[in-house]
Amino acid sequence: MPRPTLATVSVGALAHNLAQARRCAPNSRIWAVIKADAYGHGLACALRGFAQADGLALLEFDGARRVRELGWRGPVLMLEGAFCSADFVTAGELGLSLVVHDLGQIAGLREYGGAPIATWLKINTGMNRLGVPPWQAARMYGALRALPGVASVGLMTHFANADRADGTCLALSSFNLVTATLPGERSVANSAALLAVPDARTDWVRPGIMLYGASPFAERSAAALGLRPAMSLNSEVIAVQTLMTGDSVGYGSLFSAPHTMRIGIVACGYADGYPRHAPTGTPIAVAGMRTRTLGRVSMDMLAVDLEPMPAVGVGAPVELWGDLVSVDEVAAASDTIGYELLCAVAPRVARRVIDLDT
Ligand SMILES: *Cc1c(COP(=O)(O)O)cnc(C)c1O
Repeated sequence: MPRPTLATVSVGALAHNLAQARRCAPNSRIWAVIKADAYGHGLACALRGFAQADGLALLEFDGARRVRELGWRGPVLMLEGAFCSADFVTAGELGLSLVVHDLGQIAGLREYGGAPIATWLKINTGMNRLGVPPWQAARMYGALRALPGVASVGLMTHFANADRADGTCLALSSFNLVTATLPGERSVANSAALLAVPDARTDWVRPGIMLYGASPFAERSAAALGLRPAMSLNSEVIAVQTLMTGDSVGYGSLFSAPHTMRIGIVACGYADGYPRHAPTGTPIAVAGMRTRTLGRVSMDMLAVDLEPMPAVGVGAPVELWGDLVSVDEVAAASDTIGYELLCAVAPRVARRVIDLDT
């Protein structure tokens, strides 16, 4: 028997969530964001789930090459643009669109002599990470348009507070003001802005997390948004212990039994990507029923409370996150966000893909 720790990705759920994004922004084209190996789900199954997307967006050039090899012929947007001069050549060869966020990248495009590249000028509207300052935008735009290596110039920004509608409004009006007289397509919305800010549903939207069935909001669950979890992380109970009153489990003896209780030991730990910060009480499902974790998560194992399921023993199926326990719940208990947990599922975890037609 192989180790039972398994991440299952549903291509149907990916497709469902894309359709949900489409319903929310029916007049926009959709770049399905597949950076970080499709938020940990794998590029190959993401491509199948997002076959109906208008484009794909990521930032890793090896990933872009891979999606071309896998047969994707549509637009591919590189969210951080070129990192070095060779990237312009790759973009020209593979027909990738490039974000341009600084002067160095414009200089690179000036040097570049290959097939013209579609570009997106990124404007900094307050995130202060990437992007040209608003007062420079029109000049950079003009400089880009004049280059023979540039096929087109779109306009984009990324919000610092897309999960708070008021924060987005200010950034969006600054973007609209700066770009008012500049022709070209616009793209501003990630999942949160797509869902919460109607004005952000411009020519192209860029949902990521919602496509994987997790919520970009702290207060609204993915289920309430009509999304289906695309990944479930499962394992099994590999041992059962009976704790007497006062006995503890795990490193640091963080959990002590208040009375005699049966606990299960599950084959999943932080080396699988389960968060070590998940405290006692983090929701988890055993044999289809919700219960809680106990004590400290170790590298390869964690403990669960079997009191709600007295008949359950070794071999019982465990869902770390998925349909019964959302990844967002585990993340909230662990003081992080679903994004981090999905991206962090470790290479040693076995993978299974459920295709549309199975
Ligand atoms: C990651 C990313 C997105 C997607 O964000 P979500 O919150 O996952 O929807 C959109 N735009 C850019 C520039 C990104 O880097």
